[in-house]
Amino acid sequence: MGRETEILVVGGGPAGLAAAIAARKKGFEVTVVDGAKPPIDKACGEGLMPNTLAALRELGIPIYPSDGRIFRGLRFIEGKTEAEANFPGENGIGVARTVLHRKMVERAEECGVSLLWGTPVSGLTGEGAIVRGREMRAKWVIGADGIGSRVRRWSGLDFASRHRVRFAQRRHYRTRPWTEHVEIYWGRMMQAYVTPLGGEETCVALISDDPRMRLEDTWEEFPELAARVQIAELSGVDRGGVTVISMLRRVHRGNVILTGDASGSVDAITGEGLCLSFRQAIALADSLASGRLETYQVAHRLLSRATYVMSRLLVWLGRYGKLRQRALQVLARDPGLFARFLAGHVGKSSALDLAATSLRFGRQFLTA
Ligand SMILES: Cc1cc2nc3c(=O)[nH]c(=O)nc-3n(C[C@H](O)[C@H](O)[C@H](O)COP(=O)(O)OP(=O)(O)OC[C@H]3O[C@@H](n4cnc5c(N)ncnc54)[C@H](O)[C@@H]3O)c2cc1C
Repeated sequence: MGRETEILVVGGGPAGLAAAIAARKKGFEVTVVDGAKPPIDKACGEGLMPNTLAALRELGIPIYPSDGRIFRGLRFIEGKTEAEANFPGENGIGVARTVLHRKMVERAEECGVSLLWGTPVSGLTGEGAIVRGREMRAKWVIGADGIGSRVRRWSGLDFASRHRVRFAQRRHYRTRPWTEHVEIYWGRMMQAYVTPLGGEETCVALISDDPRMRLEDTWEEFPELAARVQIAELSGVDRGGVTVISMLRRVHRGNVILTGDASGSVDAITGEGLCLSFRQAIALADSLASGRLETYQVAHRLLSRATYVMSRLLVWLGRYGKLRQRALQVLARDPGLFARFLAGHVGKSSALDLAATSLRFGRQFLTA
């Protein structure tokens, strides 16, 4: 038998590190194991929304404008139609994934989390997990091993999950960011989204239903974007990945608990995956400290619900060109309406406000 730990976190991505930090702050002894070595990169739009920044602060990880580049809101673009809205208060910050990972690792070390890199987990034992071929015993095993989670499968928590899969490519261009907004270019069955980063870099993420689609195949679909980046130098390596809408019936069983993308995920177009992971981490630590894991199950569902619905709505809009164009025209004509939706998306308006905004949108959409 190998070593023992109170909490074993499988996966040292953003969700695993957040869960480890939050649990450590409650006094638990925590070990994180990850098959990769830091800083871990991944296909990501790299936009930290204001609510994501707030969650990071709660974990003791302040992100400064100098870590990346500020963005003031969102801009939707399709052909000649452009709709733009700013966040109601704090701005977002575009931060390269490796920069975020480095900051999270530093914070985990500072909190006293034990970190084992280059250390894959190959199974669960009921009393822990198989780490590098030996059992590591743990009171709790947290599965934070991402979208294709094996911990989820090994623990039988895959049951009754609902899936919607799309394919993604992320690329960095060495070009001075031209925008103070995250730009989302809408095309036929695909979207490209642009996040300004620090250091004269711009992140472009393509999300599509077609696994073979690459950015260079999309220039006819996104001529405005092509004009900006086609001749720019590439920086770093492209990353590919999948983005999945999924919701699990249960996120814990026995001593295994899931968090982050392993526990269900929203489509990348929402820009909310990281925020959800961080909020789940905080809720999970509270539940572990109170000894009532059912409260995590309830909190998880409450945290995910609105983003899950928004995720489905945006993916649905991506499919139906005529309806989408009409929706974009309504938002372009009434920027106040878009701003109110955005405020709701980042948790800055009440459910009542959001219902009133949806009603106003519905009326304009029907008469457009
Ligand atoms: C194209 C794209 C764009 C996105 N854009 C945004 C955005 O702009 N803003 C936002 O907030 N979110 C965005 N997201 C979502 C966000 O990237 C995810 O929600 C986030 O990465 C989830 O973190 P995680 O830690 O759960 O998973 P991951 O980041 O996938 O980390 C899982 C970790 O587990 C490790 N691991 C896996 N299996 C094992 C094993 N057996 N043993 C040990 N270690 C293991 C892996 O090495 C990895 O480090 C985007 C996603 C995609 C695909």
